[in-house]
Amino acid sequence: MSLTAGVVAVQGDVEEHAAAIERAATAHGREVTVHEIRDAGIVPECDLLALPGGESTTISRLLHSDGIAPEIEAHVAAGKPLLATCAGLIVASSDAGDDRVDELGLLDVTVERNAFGRQKDSFEAPLEVAGLDEPYPAVFIRAPAIDSVGDAEVLATWDGRPVAVRDGPVVGTAFHPELTPDSRIHGLALFENEAAAVPGLEESA
Ligand code: GLN
Repeated sequence: MSLTAGVVAVQGDVEEHAAAIERAATAHGREVTVHEIRDAGIVPECDLLALPGGESTTISRLLHSDGIAPEIEAHVAAGKPLLATCAGLIVASSDAGDDRVDELGLLDVTVERNAFGRQKDSFEAPLEVAGLDEPYPAVFIRAPAIDSVGDAEVLATWDGRPVAVRDGPVVGTAFHPELTPDSRIHGLALFENEAAAVPGLEESA
C-alpha cells in the first residue's frame, strides 16, 4: 500500500527531507507521496512525519500559531512515526532549557541548544547507530546535545553525549540526516520503526 508522508515546512531543509523519505521508501520497497506542511489540516492525512531543523524558537512559535502543534501531538499519540531532526528534536523534547521554546513533549529527553561549541559549529562524524550495520555520516550544524534521557532509548552518542534517541514512534537526531545521500536514518525512523504503527510494515518486513 502507498503511504502518505508529511514534512513540516515552516522552516528548514524541506525538499531534502522529502527526497530522503522518497529514497528510504524505495529502499524499503514502499510507495510514498510526500506533502509539505505549512497549514493545519494536512498532518491528520499523514502516515509518517518529519520535523526538520532550523531555529527551534521560530519553529515552536509557528507550529503553535498555525495550529500544527496539536496535530503533531495527535499523530504521535496515535502511534505514527515521527522523525525530528536538530531544531526539530529541540521542539519535540520535553525540556529545551529555553523559555522561547514551547516543547511538544514527544521525546522524553532534555536538551541543550548549541551544545557543541563555536569552533565546532558544523562538523561531520561517523556515528555508530543502533540498528545500522555501518557507521552513519552525521552532519551536525549548531547542534543540540541531549542532556538527560527519561523513558527513551539512546541510539547513538558523540563525545559521550546522546545524539540520537527513540521514544516509541518518535526518533530524534541532533544531526541532519537529510543532508547526505544516505537515507538509512529516515528508513530506521519511518519505515522500520517497530515501536510505531507504520501501515503495512508487517507485510513488507
Ligand atoms: N541551533 C538551532 C537551535 O537551537 C538548531 C540548529 C539546526 O537545526 N541546524 O534551534
